[in-house]
Amino acid sequence: MTDPRMDIKSLTLSQLQEQMVSLSEAPYRAKQLYEWMHKKLAADYEEMSNLPKSLKEKCREHFTYTALKTVRVQESKLDGTKKFLFALSDGNLVESVWMKYKHGNSVCISSQVGCRMGCRFCASTLDGWERNLTPSEMLDQIYCITRLTGERVSNVVVMGTGEPLDNYENLLRFILLLTDENGLHISQRSITVSTCGIVPRMRELAGEGLQITLALSLHASTDTKRRRLMPVAQKYSLDELMDACAYYFEKTGRRITFEYSLAAGVNDTPEDVRELITLLKPLNCHINLIPINPVKERDFVGSERSAVEAFKNKLEKYGINVTIRREMGRDIEGACGQLRRGYMHKQS
Ligand code: SAH
Repeated sequence: MTDPRMDIKSLTLSQLQEQMVSLSEAPYRAKQLYEWMHKKLAADYEEMSNLPKSLKEKCREHFTYTALKTVRVQESKLDGTKKFLFALSDGNLVESVWMKYKHGNSVCISSQVGCRMGCRFCASTLDGWERNLTPSEMLDQIYCITRLTGERVSNVVVMGTGEPLDNYENLLRFILLLTDENGLHISQRSITVSTCGIVPRMRELAGEGLQITLALSLHASTDTKRRRLMPVAQKYSLDELMDACAYYFEKTGRRITFEYSLAAGVNDTPEDVRELITLLKPLNCHINLIPINPVKERDFVGSERSAVEAFKNKLEKYGINVTIRREMGRDIEGACGQLRRGYMHKQS
């Protein structure tokens, strides 16, 4: 049976105030609790030293308290990237990645347990979809990592396991809590949400008045090719997708980032680059190239460095803004879903 209690770490400050009132507690207790959870990142009520025991008891009775358990930490010897495997209260596992850059620390979080989008090159989708993560389970990945590393997180990317726009309401609440001035107060501009391209949700997101960056996993420049790599492309055509991207930019003024993972001989040919230029030229955008990270259950092989460079040079010639994403943590199963899957299958 599911727990009927409310998840206290997913409540907004004003919702928590209402809860305190209904529990006959003073409203200022809400602010204290909220700050312990979202600013001081308390792992449980025991740490909340200025709260009376009776209030803590009441909270335990009426709410659940999300606190992820660290199952494993792996550190890359190549670049210091750390990968964390966390257990949720129901025993499900999620993974997150911590990356150190010159401009600050970035955390990549998961938004679902598993994924149902079925992209053919991705490890996250191999075991299917289990459930959505709650806002507090998304936040707690960042909170745990901040506590464990002792360093402030400045950028958050929702690019781990799961399709964030397939968990839309929880994603919005997560963003609201993460950017709240009474919490970690991370700026909206420092948050990137990556989607495989769920068109109606992209349009809805454009209307939320947010200043986050939207990243679109494109990976192919024709419908035929994209359909081979990503089942979601059966549902939404590239025309519809590009229209939604243009609409997102028009509504928010935020330039879209296109993700393009290169698989040798599949989407890295001269023909691919020509078609991609035609597709992206009219848009104000930025494209991130990354060689496919080989996943042993999948057939794809990452493009050679020279092929990636050639691809980049051609795009740049046409005035398209390109970066080659550094492959962080290659030695620690850096690709989406690899750590969780590796661990689960060793256990079973
Ligand atoms: N569902 C979202 C976010 C999670 S995937 C999305 O599709 O965007 C994050 C990014 O990693 C996506 O661009 C995804 O296509 C890409 N990706 C997944 N597996 C990969 C692999 N093995 N090699 C390279 N990129 C991969």
